[in-house]
Amino acid sequence: MTLRIGCIADDFTGGTDVAAAFRRAGLRTALVFGTPDAATALPPDCDAAVVALKSRSTPAAEAVADSTTAQNWLWAQGAAQIYFKYCSTFDSTAHGNIGPVSDALLDAAGATVTLHTPASPANGRTVYQGHLFVHDQLLSDSPLRHHPLNPMTDASLPRLLTPQTTHPVALIDWATVRSGPAAVRDALLTHQRNGVRHVIADALTDDDLAVLGAAALELPVVAGAAGLAEGLGHAYHATGAATPVPLPAGGRAAVLAGSCSARTLEQIAQFYAAGLPSLHLDVLAAATGRDVVTEALAWYDAQDPAAPVLIYASASPEELAAVQAQLGVAEAAAHVEELLGALAVHLVDRGVNRLLVAGGETSGAVTTALGVRAVLVGDEADPGVPWTTADTKNGTLALMLKSGNFGAPDLFTRALATPAGDR
Ligand code: ADP
Repeated sequence: MTLRIGCIADDFTGGTDVAAAFRRAGLRTALVFGTPDAATALPPDCDAAVVALKSRSTPAAEAVADSTTAQNWLWAQGAAQIYFKYCSTFDSTAHGNIGPVSDALLDAAGATVTLHTPASPANGRTVYQGHLFVHDQLLSDSPLRHHPLNPMTDASLPRLLTPQTTHPVALIDWATVRSGPAAVRDALLTHQRNGVRHVIADALTDDDLAVLGAAALELPVVAGAAGLAEGLGHAYHATGAATPVPLPAGGRAAVLAGSCSARTLEQIAQFYAAGLPSLHLDVLAAATGRDVVTEALAWYDAQDPAAPVLIYASASPEELAAVQAQLGVAEAAAHVEELLGALAVHLVDRGVNRLLVAGGETSGAVTTALGVRAVLVGDEADPGVPWTTADTKNGTLALMLKSGNFGAPDLFTRALATPAGDR
């Protein structure tokens, strides 16, 4: 099968989230980290490829340039359709980047209309009469109204999108969606004839998203969150049966954690409580020139090869504040990312072939250090947290890249418990 969907995600975690959604719909899915170039290679026979960018909060012109580069690369890989994945809370400002990026993708495709919906019912995001709800609250009444970068103080999607584009915006309401794909296609055509470019659709359930996916199959560009991506995926692959992505057998397993999020701290505590070997990295010592990497590797070499190990820089809020006060926030993070990146390379050289990385930025640092540009997406251990595989000079490496707050408290022990060959 040739590449059906080429997806551009506006942040790293969103990329994993949407890749997992395509995979749930039964598509063989690859995830590419950062703007791809001629040297970036996809695993063979993918149905969907997701390029994870960092374009959500960058200046609009930069986001447009990165997104159209990704679009051209995806087309060069044979993508028949482009999906622009943004946040299910429509995280954006009056200047973008949802409007400018979707306009640029449409312009490049020569398309005049697109379908949008940020609905993702699995995460409590629904759209009714064009208003975005977060669980039982309007977006503008939810905690997102206090978002540190982009406070969302309006819940009306047409009102939010209109200032971001020079083109008209309109709505397909829930009654039309409930009438099925043909009714949605008719409504899309009518809007298109009337010069509307951005058509926002209501969606309350996964069934609604399946209807929208079926209706949007022929559009060159579609936009939304992971929910509509899964709806589209199901429309492509009606059986929904995912081909297995085998994990490497044998080898050793490790967790590298740089996230200081509450959930990651719980996962670390749970790993420790299970009696498994864990090592806390001394970031201040590393900053004064101590060879913390060599010390950590000596510790690793002394552990039972059958047990997964955890090496973490993650710190409690108090400890983090103390380190940051001494080193500065950016310098502290740079030290941590360098340490964990170097450790990843050494651990893989020492035979680790299942590596779980906790933290969004940390995952970026580790994949960069390992030279991993693209992975194949496998089964999820928890929602939004799939195993992936990458080809490295050491053979197949299984990587689980998790955003700080993702995964159940026992994720580390559960995901690494079973020898890969027995999965
Ligand atoms: P999350 O997904 O939870 O936001 P990230 O990896 O994106 O996790 O961000 C955590 C940030 O905290 C990283 O930049 C990391 O380098 C930094 N960090 C982790 N541990 C420490 C520490 N002990 N001292 C200072 N900074 C740290």
